[in-house]
Amino acid sequence: MRSFKNPGIVKFLDLGWQTKKVLPEVKRVWRNQLTNSSFILSPAVSEFERAFSEFSKVAYCSGVANGTDALEIGLRSLGVGHGDEVIVPANSFVASAIAVTRAGATPVFVDCEPGTWLIDVSGIESAISPRTKAVMPVHLYGQMASMGVLRTLAEKHGLFIVEDVAQAQGASQDGKTAGSIGDVAGTSFYPGKNLGAMGDGGAVLTMSRDIAERANALRNYGSAVKYQHPIFGFNSRLDSLQAAVLQAKLRHLADWNAMRRSQAEFYVDALRGEERIILPVVGEGNTHVWHLFVVHVENRDEVMQKMEELGVQTGIHYPTPIHLLGMYEHLGHSAGAFPIAEQSAKTAISLPIYPGLTQGSQFRVVRALRKSLGLGH
Ligand SMILES: *Cc1c(COP(=O)(O)O)cnc(C)c1O
Repeated sequence: MRSFKNPGIVKFLDLGWQTKKVLPEVKRVWRNQLTNSSFILSPAVSEFERAFSEFSKVAYCSGVANGTDALEIGLRSLGVGHGDEVIVPANSFVASAIAVTRAGATPVFVDCEPGTWLIDVSGIESAISPRTKAVMPVHLYGQMASMGVLRTLAEKHGLFIVEDVAQAQGASQDGKTAGSIGDVAGTSFYPGKNLGAMGDGGAVLTMSRDIAERANALRNYGSAVKYQHPIFGFNSRLDSLQAAVLQAKLRHLADWNAMRRSQAEFYVDALRGEERIILPVVGEGNTHVWHLFVVHVENRDEVMQKMEELGVQTGIHYPTPIHLLGMYEHLGHSAGAFPIAEQSAKTAISLPIYPGLTQGSQFRVVRALRKSLGLGH
């Protein structure tokens, strides 16, 4: 029960506000789609692909079933597969590595750098072997990894760059958008991403016509022409109903990213100067889109528990670095292999940040965090 003494909880994520904004348009388009029974690779999908490629400033976009598939199809469209190694940050969502494994290759992990928690580009060169085919920068939490350094390394060693843009739709670095720099990029439209569907979805982005054609075939049983299957493929297409949702939300994405940016500024202003709170660092030249606002504190679990008791939900991204997950036990990494990622797993706490989060709620988040750390007002 809500009373005026208990104003309810601040949710870690609430998509209701976004849904309300697009519902009339989505309902109208869905009604047409239902009338026309146009469900698979309909014009709604190609229209969204065109709009999203324009937004991302890339030449080609292929809508696929989810972000993990987008990355796998991206890797496969470059010919990355069995016997190959792909460099992946240890601090990411597990799906970045799953895509590599699913493509038949082996993920080789690299630690992250403190502050941005993005892949530590200074650790990449020593991870390169004769089998390395690609490096996968993950634009984690909403900002891009150092693409200038990565490009130099990739050129020097003849590696492909596969960008994981799942958390960074609309981010840019020195004027270049996320997904437009690598050979190929994969993104996710999981509902909670900056651009989220009302179900699963993803996309492969590229500047190369060849790669786009392969991705289009791979998502559709290896076929560009019906009943011709020159290459092995999958069934992984962006659903037409989801394309309509994404088309409606895409019109708001720049505004919604701007709201996230001002929410991040609010947190930074309110928490700056507190020794016990490590704030996120924005890399040089980066326009951050704040998919997540991650701070670092000692006694994280206790702080999280106390904040929950004070009515504020938080998250952890991520509680276990990928190299220590059960599914990668066979790779033989032990604790201590990637100390910064392991440290982050122990101290990271994500504060609520999403369009529709009110300033009143942000005040409550700040108060709850300070109180949980035993700090005065
Ligand atoms: C969400 C996410 C993915 C996977 O996307 P799905 O659509 O859930 O398959 C991949 N990488 C990162 C960094 C993500 O955050």
